[in-house]
Amino acid sequence: MQIKELHQAQINFFKSRTTIGIKYRVESLQRLKKIIEKREQDVYAALENDLGKCEFEAFLTEYNVIIAELKKFIYRTKKWSQPTKVSSSILNFPSKARRYPEPYGNVLIISPWNYPFQLALAPLIGAVAAGNTVVLKPSEFSTATSSLLKEIIEEAFDQEHVSVQLGDAQVAQELTALSWDYIFFTGSPGVGKKIYQEAAKHLTPVTLELGGKNPCVVHESAAIKVTAKRIVWAKFLNAGQTCIAPDYLLVHHSIKEQLVTEIKNQLQEFFGEDIKKSPDYPRIIRDAHFDLLLEMIAGESILTGGNHDKASLYIAPTLINEPSRDSKVMENEIFGPILPVISYTTEQELESWIESYEKPLGAYCFTGDSKFEDWFVQRFSFGGGVINDSIVQFINDRLPFGGVGNSGIGSYHGKHSFETFSHYKSVVHRGTWIDLPVKYAPYSNKLKWVKKLMSKL
Ligand code: NAD
Repeated sequence: MQIKELHQAQINFFKSRTTIGIKYRVESLQRLKKIIEKREQDVYAALENDLGKCEFEAFLTEYNVIIAELKKFIYRTKKWSQPTKVSSSILNFPSKARRYPEPYGNVLIISPWNYPFQLALAPLIGAVAAGNTVVLKPSEFSTATSSLLKEIIEEAFDQEHVSVQLGDAQVAQELTALSWDYIFFTGSPGVGKKIYQEAAKHLTPVTLELGGKNPCVVHESAAIKVTAKRIVWAKFLNAGQTCIAPDYLLVHHSIKEQLVTEIKNQLQEFFGEDIKKSPDYPRIIRDAHFDLLLEMIAGESILTGGNHDKASLYIAPTLINEPSRDSKVMENEIFGPILPVISYTTEQELESWIESYEKPLGAYCFTGDSKFEDWFVQRFSFGGGVINDSIVQFINDRLPFGGVGNSGIGSYHGKHSFETFSHYKSVVHRGTWIDLPVKYAPYSNKLKWVKKLMSKL
């Protein structure tokens, strides 16, 4: 089907009210889960093909995230779909007040290449559970995973219900030009702004899951060894191509040398002497991104790494020493295995570095000092964060995941995904057994009684 035809078919399907049935939604998710489980090895093969991800990483950060989300939604969708009671206002006496979740209707999801399986399906599960139809446009750069997604979705759903549209930015633009009831986008802030503009033409609500320059502060009270280990894990997972990875380190000058030494030790522990040969270290997605990352390294003082191989899209984990604020590497989000190490002495220096950027998606602080921890959490605005680790805010689906300001609008995961894709109708149910006359004309001298009553509330 052509894009417009597919869009119309999904509109008609939603109007048929088939997706309103909770049983229909849950059975759709059960089918999806079965097919994904059947294709588990194909998921790993596609992720290996696109990003050189090993099976362990693919399981932990992609496959299992989706299976866990499906299990939760299969179990909870019925409960989450029920109306919820809220307390009534005395002014409406007698009455009951309820919130009724209803699907928005026709949803468009656009996803990126870095966690191409998980970031496409996690929002899709929420949208389907909430009773919407979905067109998914995965990234054109993670070609193997995007093709696999198409096969899986075609086997699990009728295309009027859920469908995958492959293609590049032009296809994405054709899609965003249409009228949707909800758009969910994960990607760069630049594209996010374009999507917001398109959505505004139809007053379409959006979730924008974007990126930013995530600071990672290491206070002088931090436990150095475990800090180094956790930073190496978080930064070099997926070769740094993670939206919530630490982008740059701000380390107290008194422990900088120790920390850098320990990071180097940990790199060796993780990936061995020759990192290029490690089966656990992924690759850069494509040539253009590889070139961009090399431009960030050029001319900088390198503490470790810097070596690379274009043929296999390999860039070694690279630490850069004290880059200046106007250097290429400190200009935008890095999104690769390059970690700037910047020393600080005062809290004012931290404020000046962190606040010279837009509000980030993630922020991290390693410290053993609870006062400093409180100061950090309350002083800065960011989407989400962790004290004494990084990335792991993502694991707890009771914490809504999303950005703020330039790093995004809205949030999702677990129940929050269901809420994201539902409109909650607020309804007051009034009783008729008594009808207090106070609000009706003629008002004569009722005002003084109304004022008295209001002052008591
Ligand atoms: P991108 O914005 O270049 O592309 C994302 C998607 O948008 C792709 O499917 C692409 O085809 C589509 N697209 C491109 N131009 C478009 C247009 N004009 N209109 C509509 N759609 C268009 O992002 P990317 O390079 O795939 O991913 C990297 C970015 O994503 C980073 O900034 C990263 O921080 C961010 N990201 C955020 C999260 C999050 O959860 N917040 C997760 C992963 C990545």
